[in-house]
Amino acid sequence: MRKWNFCAGPAAISEDVLLDVKSELLEWKDSGTSIMEMSHRSPEYLSVAREAKTDLIDILNIPENYDVLFLQGGATQQFAQIPINFGKKSADYVLTGTWSKKAISEASNYLEVKTIASSEQENFSYVPDPNSWRFSRDADYVHYCPNETIQGVALHKAPITKNPLIADMSSVILSEPIDVKNFSMIYAGAQKNIGPAGLTVIIIEKEFLLKSNNNLANILKYDEHAKADSMLNTPPTFAWYMAGKVFKWIKECGGLKFFKEQNYKKAKLLYEFIDSSSFYSNNIMLENRSIMNVPFLLADDKLDNEFLDKSKKNGLLHLKGHRSVGGMRASIYNAMPLDGVIELISFMKDFEIENG
Ligand code: PMP
Repeated sequence: MRKWNFCAGPAAISEDVLLDVKSELLEWKDSGTSIMEMSHRSPEYLSVAREAKTDLIDILNIPENYDVLFLQGGATQQFAQIPINFGKKSADYVLTGTWSKKAISEASNYLEVKTIASSEQENFSYVPDPNSWRFSRDADYVHYCPNETIQGVALHKAPITKNPLIADMSSVILSEPIDVKNFSMIYAGAQKNIGPAGLTVIIIEKEFLLKSNNNLANILKYDEHAKADSMLNTPPTFAWYMAGKVFKWIKECGGLKFFKEQNYKKAKLLYEFIDSSSFYSNNIMLENRSIMNVPFLLADDKLDNEFLDKSKKNGLLHLKGHRSVGGMRASIYNAMPLDGVIELISFMKDFEIENG
């Protein structure tokens, strides 16, 4: 039986989507084959791919001067691909957690990285106010991660920058409306709010693409992928198809306005409960708490394993925090309904009464 899945990624996918995909698994429409067995250049597949792209453009209100790419490689590949495409000399990076740290480490191989703000000294418990970021005048770009999946720390408002802004939105994309115009590039691994792993979505300003370096292998050039409509080589066809199903589901639910409301409601309930208890704690600064990933500690970490065993028996899965920070983490992406969070809180209350 399916249970509440709080995994940070690959994460829960709506049951409506899974059932729809199941119904088409053996044969897509009247094509005689499954979608997985079809040429990516067939008219049938091209119609699926184009519709997914159009729906994403619609959901995020992506302006016409942006390209939308459906690629492979994950967000990790972008950590390297961004500096090799857009690095001329130096770039500004904001250090707010594990993922931005990895992005910095990778970029340092290709250009001079200027860390213009950091919360590392304070254990990544907040995001430095963008007004305090020490922007360089001539940075090739500014990179930040609006939602650090492991620490559960987020910047909820996009900074305004003079130089091109690039955001790793892997764990926050599609959780609420954004103004794409603030960014030169947005990238996200699919396996949280978009669909199955294997797909990376990239939204990139056409003018920014013109600045890319030329002396690279074609497969690493964003502009070549854009020219080929993400079909320079075989794209992750099944993941792209499933992403399209998720986009339709988002639209049917009421779009990002609906998800923003639901996501804030879920996160508020959970944080309010954690803050009201002396048994559980979350030490992220209030205004920087993530609405997608809620880490929390138990008063006594010797109880961690028992908490995980019992939660699993109660149908609440994958609550273990990342090994680098310990404790627990509830990832509550779009596909986690309010009911799942209510059940989690109810379990946490009972566990506290038994052990507090
Ligand atoms: N950035 C963020 C914010 C992430 O959460 C993750 C994955 N959890 C990554 C990058 C790395 O993504 P991938 O595994 O798709 O390379």
